[in-house]
Amino acid sequence: MSTYQIAFLSGDGIGKEVAEETRRVLEYLQILLPEIKLNFVPYPMGAGEYLKNGNPLPDSTLEGIKKADAILLGAMGLPEVRWSDGTEMVPQIEIREKLDLYAGERPLRLYHESFTPLKGFQNGEIDLLIIRENTEGLFWGRTAGRSEDPDSEEDIMHISRKGAERISRYAFKKAILRPAKKVCLVDKANVLKSSAFFREIFLEVGKQFPEIETECVYVDAFALFLVQRPQTFDVIVTENMFGDILSDLGAGLIGGMGMAPSADIGEQHAVFQPSHGTAPDIAGQGIANPVATILSAAMMMDYLKEPRAASLLISSVEEIFKEGKNTTRDLGGALSTRAFGDKLMQVMKNQFE
Ligand code: ATP
Repeated sequence: MSTYQIAFLSGDGIGKEVAEETRRVLEYLQILLPEIKLNFVPYPMGAGEYLKNGNPLPDSTLEGIKKADAILLGAMGLPEVRWSDGTEMVPQIEIREKLDLYAGERPLRLYHESFTPLKGFQNGEIDLLIIRENTEGLFWGRTAGRSEDPDSEEDIMHISRKGAERISRYAFKKAILRPAKKVCLVDKANVLKSSAFFREIFLEVGKQFPEIETECVYVDAFALFLVQRPQTFDVIVTENMFGDILSDLGAGLIGGMGMAPSADIGEQHAVFQPSHGTAPDIAGQGIANPVATILSAAMMMDYLKEPRAASLLISSVEEIFKEGKNTTRDLGGALSTRAFGDKLMQVMKNQFE
């Protein structure tokens, strides 16, 4: 039997609801695959924790999650809980920086034609992997020095050689494992020096992967192409903020934020969480779509080198959506978070038999 310690950070808003449902699904997975044992260890973190104890990311949480084999996270932050400068609590971003989780993997796969606003795309015909650089880029400004002029503010876009090199290599290595074997760098190299620098390094790294086709597209044009012809892209690599925006745009093409999983991977640690936030507009109603978190858990099982568990989760999601039914409200259905989880477990059982 393989036993894994899973740090469980459910967070705020719908984060709690989707994380709890995913945990229930994973508990059931262990009944079907008894050779896997997941020990969930909960830790406090988020805006709710700040309201209780004055710190959204307690030191004991940071130390505890470092010891885990993987970290499963719901979502963090509440719009009404802010720092004095007006920004929200974002401990989920802080841990990317503190644990050096430089590679943000955001797969975007369409599971049913009725989930996309685009015409003519069937199950699997949108299948992209955005690799977002997670530790620098425009988010660098969060911790960099502030403007000395009281009448202005600035955020710096910072790209280092090390940062650009390792994320480019990460993207190429991912592309090798996929059938299309293409990597597209998205940047603004015609205007920004940091982008031109990133592009130079990306092309250098690309030379070490001659079997992979490379292209570079400016971010504004890419936003257009992503809507007009998403099927022409495969792996996409980009800096932090462009990746943040484009992965939400991409989520819109496959059914919304409830369908978009993610993984934040470093050399030592990894966090798995939905791409969405705490969705205060629907929090507390039990109607959030847990699929993004369940698919993130599938990525976690893959990371833990349990491919059988990962494929059982993914094939069950594929099966449940075969007819475009069995959906939560965001996709036009009527299932609650819990009812979706129950149906999924039934499908997992059937798949397994
Ligand atoms: P953040 O800035 O923290 O990433 P956000 O501002 O992007 O958050 P989200 O919380 O991701 O906002 O929500 C964006 C929209 O998507 C909201 O209308 C929300 O209700 C919807 N949404 C997000 N996640 C889900 C989900 N799991 N199920 C259903 N709807 C969702």
